[in-house]
Amino acid sequence: MPVQLTSILIIGGGFSGLAAAIALAQEGRAVTLVEREPEWRMDGAGISIGGASLRALHGLGVLPAFLERGYAADGTDMRAPDGTPLASFATPRLVDEDTPGNGAIMRPLLGEVLAEAALAAGTEVRFATSPTRLEERGERVLATLSGPDGEREEEFDFVVAADGVYSRTRAELFPAAPEPRFSGQGAWRAVLPRPAAIANTTIWVGGPSKIGVNPIDADRLYLFVNEASPGRERIPESQLAPRLDALLAPLPDPLVQELRASIGPDSLVLHRPMDQLLVPLPWHRGRVQLIGDAVHATTPHLAAGAGLGLEDALVLAEELASHALLDDALLAFGARRFERARMVVDNSARLGELEASPEGAGAFGALQAESMRLLAQPV
Ligand SMILES: Cc1cc2nc3c(=O)[nH]c(=O)nc-3n(C[C@H](O)[C@H](O)[C@H](O)COP(=O)(O)OP(=O)(O)OC[C@H]3O[C@@H](n4cnc5c(N)ncnc54)[C@H](O)[C@@H]3O)c2cc1C
Repeated sequence: MPVQLTSILIIGGGFSGLAAAIALAQEGRAVTLVEREPEWRMDGAGISIGGASLRALHGLGVLPAFLERGYAADGTDMRAPDGTPLASFATPRLVDEDTPGNGAIMRPLLGEVLAEAALAAGTEVRFATSPTRLEERGERVLATLSGPDGEREEEFDFVVAADGVYSRTRAELFPAAPEPRFSGQGAWRAVLPRPAAIANTTIWVGGPSKIGVNPIDADRLYLFVNEASPGRERIPESQLAPRLDALLAPLPDPLVQELRASIGPDSLVLHRPMDQLLVPLPWHRGRVQLIGDAVHATTPHLAAGAGLGLEDALVLAEELASHALLDDALLAFGARRFERARMVVDNSARLGELEASPEGAGAFGALQAESMRLLAQPV
């Protein structure tokens, strides 16, 4: 018999919170999602959606909407800085034999796909709203919610906190949890026109920084550059395009130079320090469960951070459906998720170190292949 939960509060409307809303509301539970921003905040450039993440989108029932608005293709091509093809890696098809093994989409479009499904499943969404207090009262949690009309108290059976890497819920309920740590790299992203020659993920290795591109639709791709950085840099907007241009300049491949020439004053160029975090189990306290970046935030080297959050949602719904007692379900959830999250966070961090070292190429390839093999395994 499943855990009896009729009313659920989800804190945070990022990819993890929305996925949890879909998975839990689809089972007929009353789900309220509070998002502190006044509207969906999924800004940013493109996001890679590898085979395991495509499988999770399929599990949430939103793969057709993803394929309509994003892009999917097979394989990753690796090139030298001068454009010499070095290798092509297969990306196994994990959904079915017709769905490619890799993909990407603009972040706001992925947010749109998930938000539409969460609303269709019956989720009540409240913007500009945050909990100021969560207090366990027997079999219920009393939440004080602060929103546009002031504060009000409401009771829920269960709370899922998906409030991101700087989670306030984590800070309050898990004061001993580690803090997010800077990884030693900054991430550049830009959305650019897609040259016809680029039909799938392509990366350039052996240059001063790792550079790659991922098509996000028929006309556009997003470019990513991982740059070693001594500390958390905040780069003024006026310097973003010139700094990115300088990172692409040393690569003579005409394809890279075509991409470089397409960066204009209106191009979307973003830079973010890369952080990482892995909170030891348990990830729940009483009737409050943390998921997504709130407990496992990874650098983007395996492009699997958002996918982990989507999987968390599916596994949480499964465990709640297959246990009678909430604590048993939440312990089973943590046990099922921790090792996979650890693998992604640790291996991504190691890949970042290896790509920054001239001797790292061989070890990088081996660790990347092993990590992809592990990611493909059932969750
Ligand atoms: C540079 C970079 C590149 C990346 N590239 C990829 C990639 O290619 N593929 C991939 O799979 N992953 C990638 N990731 C990881 C991915 O972006 C994250 O894992 C994912 O966005 C986490 O989603 P989340 O919903 O857990 O957290 P968040 O996206 O942080 O969402 C948290 C939400 O909670 C809200 N919130 C916070 N506090 C409160 C509060 N107190 N009350 C109410 N609401 C609150 C926030 O406003 C936000 O909407 C990348 C990460 C970085 C940094």
